[in-house]
Amino acid sequence: MFKSAIVIIFAFVILLTALIAITPVLAVPNENASDKAKSKAGFIPEHAVKITESLYSLGKAKDHTGKVVEGFLFIDNKKSPAKPDGTPGNGNKKTKTGETSTCYTLLAKDARWKATEPYMIGAGIDVALTQASLNAWNDQVSFDIFGLQQAGSPDGADSGSPDGKNEVMFDNLGETNTIAYTITWGIFSGPPSQRVLVEWDAVFNSDYTFGDANTATSPVMDYQNIATHEFGHALGLTHPSDACFEETMYRYADIDETNKRTLEAGDIAGLNKLYS
Ligand SMILES: [Zn+2]
Repeated sequence: MFKSAIVIIFAFVILLTALIAITPVLAVPNENASDKAKSKAGFIPEHAVKITESLYSLGKAKDHTGKVVEGFLFIDNKKSPAKPDGTPGNGNKKTKTGETSTCYTLLAKDARWKATEPYMIGAGIDVALTQASLNAWNDQVSFDIFGLQQAGSPDGADSGSPDGKNEVMFDNLGETNTIAYTITWGIFSGPPSQRVLVEWDAVFNSDYTFGDANTATSPVMDYQNIATHEFGHALGLTHPSDACFEETMYRYADIDETNKRTLEAGDIAGLNKLYS
């Protein structure tokens, strides 16, 4: 009895020693995996390929009808103040009457919506402010780019392949400079007449306090300010050059900012290039 207890204890000690010896070997691949995960923000999928600081390619996938489409992910960060470093206060030169601004960049020529589609909103998203942000664009052209809210709840942003639903939602992206991101799916290459947009999903980081910066107590991230920018991505615009920092489509925004609620000459010129 006593002898067998010693054998069991001895066997246990050997097992423990073996485990301790194995542990560092196991720890090596684990450390590598977590380092790799840290190289991209959590909401950026592993397969995404960085094009610029604020734009990733999501590659090609089939949409819900089996058509091969391509996806892009736009990342919109906070910067105080939201203008290029060392820029004096007065903003970019205003466009003279009759002069067309070049302060815009299209994702691809003629890559636009060809049918008006509805969208669905998630918990906490303000319906009226969302519609106002969409109308900032709709009101400038005769074609209704964005339709009305439809029933149903978003089931998450589609970074792998589109699911046929345009979705607006909050998601907690954690304590990061990223205020919001938008994913836009479509056909961006080949004959321009075949190019088209097929889906957009906009996600707002609920780690920020969103509200109406004109009425809420500061500091607040103005929902309409950010949403109007996101919906510019949803209709086919990317970020213009950093010299165009007065535009709604400029890549940075800030707390309490509201100037992106309304469009500037460059935003309107880009919109007209696609929809007029
Ligand atoms: Zn953006």
